Amino acid sequence: MSTIQHLINGELVNDSGRTADVYNPSTGKVIHQVPLASRETIQQAIDTAKAAFPAWRNTPPAKRAQVMFRFKQLLEQNEARISQLISEEHGKTLEDAAGELKRGIENVEYACSAPEILKGEYSRNVGPNIDAWSDFQPIGVVAGITPFNFPAMVPLWMYPLAIVCGNCFILKPSERDPSSTLLIAQLLQEAGLPKGVLSVVHGDKTAVDALIEAPEVKALSFVGSTPIAEYIYAEGTRRGKRVQALGGAKNHAVLMPDADLDNAVSALMGAAYGSCGERCMAISVAVCVGDQVADALVAKLVPQIEALKIGAGTSCGLDMGPLVSGQARDKVSGYVADGVAAGAQLVVDGRGLSVKDHEDGFFLGGCLFDRVTPEMRIYKEEIFGPVLCIVRVNSLEAAMQLINDHEYGNGTCIFTRDGEAARLFCDEIEVGMVGVNVPLPVPVAYHSFGGWKRSLFGDLHAYGPDGVRFYTRRKAITQRWPQRASHEASQFAFPSL
Ligand code: NAD
Repeated sequence: MSTIQHLINGELVNDSGRTADVYNPSTGKVIHQVPLASRETIQQAIDTAKAAFPAWRNTPPAKRAQVMFRFKQLLEQNEARISQLISEEHGKTLEDAAGELKRGIENVEYACSAPEILKGEYSRNVGPNIDAWSDFQPIGVVAGITPFNFPAMVPLWMYPLAIVCGNCFILKPSERDPSSTLLIAQLLQEAGLPKGVLSVVHGDKTAVDALIEAPEVKALSFVGSTPIAEYIYAEGTRRGKRVQALGGAKNHAVLMPDADLDNAVSALMGAAYGSCGERCMAISVAVCVGDQVADALVAKLVPQIEALKIGAGTSCGLDMGPLVSGQARDKVSGYVADGVAAGAQLVVDGRGLSVKDHEDGFFLGGCLFDRVTPEMRIYKEEIFGPVLCIVRVNSLEAAMQLINDHEYGNGTCIFTRDGEAARLFCDEIEVGMVGVNVPLPVPVAYHSFGGWKRSLFGDLHAYGPDGVRFYTRRKAITQRWPQRASHEASQFAFPSL
């Protein structure tokens, strides 16, 4: 069994302190040990980032972008290897792993446009002989803390853009599936990134606290569960850091009576059960407008859920792999029991699933609840597993009220053929990312990603144009070159035109 290493100052380094087990969730076996960095190890990474910053800050953006072009090529060449590692430690299917990598590469492509996105704003003649411009300057050393569910994509939301903006980055990936994240960072080194500009340090709360407390770390990007997001936002901002902390979710899909039901069912199956429901944009609630829609939806969903192809993530042609850990599987099963006890109707029960030759894997079949009501825990809380809840309402207004009253506001979608209903929904729903007949409205890399309410703490969304703003500081420069012969008297009134 191998021990995973940190990547500090461009080198793979061992650590002698605490470790954690990394599982293959399809077999239930421990396959690696991952080091849990001490404060000293984190400080080592911070010191190398600080040392690398002055030269990297002054490297022309076009040169920084060239590293990203080579990085993109290496990522594409290594797609199979990276997908295999994701699948082995996370459990998601190979096709799903390749999908997250492709969405991550989109962010590298966006970062390749650094010279364009950093060129600033210029105004000539804002006053007599006066020109003004805004620069977007890097912040310095910034850190990112990422979740287990997208070990390739979520880190790629952060560091390509932060780095291309001229910052040095320390990544603390999830300790549950760190191998693909580490390999990807090594590929960026191979692409020509100077040493120290990116470090990957594995760890848990100790490592995160060291990053929060270090005065050299000027900004923190976090993606994970809401309680940790709130903690990092509060502790980071209290110390004067810039923080963007993306949290959990409960995403609703509204089904209108005029929806194209067959297509909506196909979309819902993928959005609810893909990646075993372990996506922050997974649809976990279907809000049916009218009993007729709900009855028809249940009738169409049941056979499809029962026919889900579930097996070891690393095999091809599957719909779903296992959950990430035994603890995650037991937690989701606990929610299912809770829903039954609260009076929801369990139409499909995926508990107790055993996969041949993988009897110790962390598997759970797809589950479907009907007649879920808003006061139930299975409605209120993020389950993060293959469980879809159906809530029945009588009108679009009632559906929207339900969604707007929920504490999370990450993603949502509406299935309808009615443009007026769709427009009202887009306009008035209190959720950060909205789909119309699109179940997973994850914005492309040249837009920005973020939820509302308790799904995001901070002012700016992740990646895209908001990401550029997050990883840069604006400096406004006003410059005057008076004509040589002129002499101007002092002016005591506030300068104006
Ligand atoms: P998590 O909050 O358990 O862990 C996220 C990161 O925080 C990891 O790197 C982990 O090591 C670290 N961490 C864990 N406990 C900590 C503590 N006490 N103090 C400091 N750091 C700590 O989340 P997870 O289980 O890895 O990921 C799933 C969660 O992430 C879900 O809630 C999901 O909705 C959310 N998520 C949100 C988005 C989004 O964009 N909003 C995207 C992906 C995942």
